[in-house]
Amino acid sequence: MARLRTEVPGPRSRELAQRREGAVAAGVGTVLPAFVDHAEPGLLVDVDGNRLIDLGSGIAVTGVGNPAPRVAAAVHEQIDRFSHTCFMVTPYEGYLEVCEQLAELTPGGHEKRSVLLNSGAEAVENAVKIARHATGRPGVVVLDHAYHGRTNLTMAMTAKDMPYKHGFGPFTPGVRRVPGSYPLHDGLSGAEAARRAVAAVDRPDEVACVVVEPIQGEGGFVVPAPGFLPALADWCRSHGVLLVADEVQTGFCRTGDWFACEHEDVVPDLVATAKGIAGGLPLGAVTGRADVMDAVHVGGLGGTYGGNPVACAAAVAAIDTLRDLDLNAAARRIGATVLPRLRALASDAVVEVRGRGAMLAVELATAEDAARVAATCHAAGVVVLTCGTRGNVIRLLPPLVIPGELLAEGLDVLEGAIQ
Ligand SMILES: *Cc1c(COP(=O)(O)O)cnc(C)c1O
Repeated sequence: MARLRTEVPGPRSRELAQRREGAVAAGVGTVLPAFVDHAEPGLLVDVDGNRLIDLGSGIAVTGVGNPAPRVAAAVHEQIDRFSHTCFMVTPYEGYLEVCEQLAELTPGGHEKRSVLLNSGAEAVENAVKIARHATGRPGVVVLDHAYHGRTNLTMAMTAKDMPYKHGFGPFTPGVRRVPGSYPLHDGLSGAEAARRAVAAVDRPDEVACVVVEPIQGEGGFVVPAPGFLPALADWCRSHGVLLVADEVQTGFCRTGDWFACEHEDVVPDLVATAKGIAGGLPLGAVTGRADVMDAVHVGGLGGTYGGNPVACAAAVAAIDTLRDLDLNAAARRIGATVLPRLRALASDAVVEVRGRGAMLAVELATAEDAARVAATCHAAGVVVLTCGTRGNVIRLLPPLVIPGELLAEGLDVLEGAIQ
């Protein structure tokens, strides 16, 4: 392919990979060991001059583009004014702007408050802290195939042992895992799956919150059966349990709505966000009902870097970009382009094609199949990721601004690899 100048990874990347071995902890994995020099719309250009088609957005982060012109300008402008004060020491307006935007964009017209953090795991962890404090209950309910992060609490909430939890215990107690909704494998309607889930909770009166990804990410891009989330939300309401939506991967137009919960008109009590929020700068947030959020005592929430001013400036610019370019419509167009093409694939290895908007997946029969398809794509210069509790799912998270011809070219490669 004309986009490639060398094999992938090329000689310069291989040199850097060798240097890395002597400096970077071995526990940090790599999907595609091509070192990046710079990015262009829909492309990552590596140090050997290879132009890789980006169907991963750095795991659903750079939906607005990479670099996104408005984000880059906002970051430059902010970093020249000041880089940090710590919002808890001396505040600044950018933090307020992000919280105001979050209140407006997250589901539900109720009064809301937000706290800003640095990552998705930190957002989920703070959502649980707030839910426990507000309810006075200790329990946390999570689902099979869940992924919520790598801190101690969020490891306990994450389902998959290898690589995320293996050897890292003991984990925090109080986390109860229940079956979710995985229509391909359980054959249940949403209502049936929800009944099965809540039946596995033995003491609802001790549960602070149920934490769900509206479409499961790392666990396999599992889209729950229609009605599952609304039924879970109803159960939560009737038992005084808070519903926390982990929208870290699904948020910010990824699925064709600002948040994936909106698809079924589910209004969570708390929403955890990160990834797509700030065009690549590290930022996470918890947004939720004012009465719940404000239950926590002054000083109970925060952190040195949470809501860093540069990250806030990037988030405001990223949200403006999502809005002005109507990237919800772009995500829907991506889904409408990709799903029929993948569904037309006639291959015994394909078990299911699923997803919504620009969060799309092909479940293959085995992890070996997925690894081989991914390796073929990578060698051809197309960045795809795998996921799934069994590692047998190819996931696509293209930048929402990807040029149509690049998306088509990337799909050609993926289709060829699957065939
Ligand atoms: C990535 C992810 C997290 C963790 O976010 P980090 O920023 O990596 O800590 C949590 N929940 C979901 C659904 C995610 O996809």
